[in-house]
Amino acid sequence: MPRPIKATIHMGSLRHNLQSMRKLAGKRMLWAVVKADAYGHGLERAVRAFEEADGLAIIDIFDIERARRFGWKKRLLLLQGFFKPQDLPMIEANDAETVVHNEEGIRLLQQFAPFKNLKVHIKINSGMNRFGFRPEEEASVRATLSSIAGVTVMGITTHFANACPEWDYGGPVSVKEQMQNLGELARRQTGACFANSAATIWLPQVAGDAVRVGISLYGVSPEPAIASRTLNIKPAMTLSSEILAIQNIRPGESVGYCSRFTAQRPSRIGVVACGFADGYLRGMPQGSPVYVEGHMAPIVGNIAMDVMMVDLTDIPQAHVGSTVELWGEHIAVADLATRAGTIAAELLCAVAPRVPFCEDEN
Ligand SMILES: *Cc1c(COP(=O)(O)O)cnc(C)c1O
Repeated sequence: MPRPIKATIHMGSLRHNLQSMRKLAGKRMLWAVVKADAYGHGLERAVRAFEEADGLAIIDIFDIERARRFGWKKRLLLLQGFFKPQDLPMIEANDAETVVHNEEGIRLLQQFAPFKNLKVHIKINSGMNRFGFRPEEEASVRATLSSIAGVTVMGITTHFANACPEWDYGGPVSVKEQMQNLGELARRQTGACFANSAATIWLPQVAGDAVRVGISLYGVSPEPAIASRTLNIKPAMTLSSEILAIQNIRPGESVGYCSRFTAQRPSRIGVVACGFADGYLRGMPQGSPVYVEGHMAPIVGNIAMDVMMVDLTDIPQAHVGSTVELWGEHIAVADLATRAGTIAAELLCAVAPRVPFCEDEN
């Protein structure tokens, strides 16, 4: 038998979340963002769960072939474009669409033309300052791309640096400023894809005819302070394990490597089969919760490679073999991430290959 840790993907929740985001997207087409193996949930599962999305958006070139192999027949978008011109024939052959984000990309297309029908989206920089042309360059970039034999310009796209409610304040790189940066383009209704999850949820004023939603589809609120429940989305991954052993220790005795936790009272310490080699962050602060037998138990001591320890003193019904939820329905992965000074996506993407995955219809 494998170690008792496992990640359960809730196919029903993925489908439900797609429906919820679909409502918010209104008439706009919906790209389901499935980069990084669907934020750690598995691309193949995402292909099945998101069959009603209009397209899948990815980063890795090879995910084009994987998605097609898994049966995806609709649109595919490379969010960061192609990395080497050698990839262009495969992109075309699989009828995928690519972003073009800089002059170098245009030059490569000119060099490798003609194409049969290469579909490109022009990436505009609205303030993130990673990829994209300045808004005022859009017209000339479009003209240049359109003049390349076999290239079809599908539209423009931008990715907001900030779109959560706290950024609706008017200052630098606020929602307002990013929209101002876009100038005329901000009002474009056709062939324009602006909104990520946060903008789809909180910025109904964002125009365009397409959205790209990622984290919300996995049941995580883009703003940790706003519970996912209130957005009508459900956590799609439960990371769970079991208690392998229980130690009864005396006041003054310590637990684990470097003896970082010392008991103040007679304590029952549970050893949980989940460590940093499973992808759980070693930096998760002591006192962070796991969920056992209907209660929260605090993590005590340093998290090790294969196990962590939790204080079960106040949960007498917990026993060897009790199920432990690391995150899922009772422990929001976003709350856990906040404790560790990171975001939920990092935890979801970090689940290690040695953790078995399974799925249910919940
Ligand atoms: C990851 C990504 C998204 C999805 O963002 P979420 O906040 O997860 O909804 C959209 N667009 C681009 C370009 C991305 O890289």
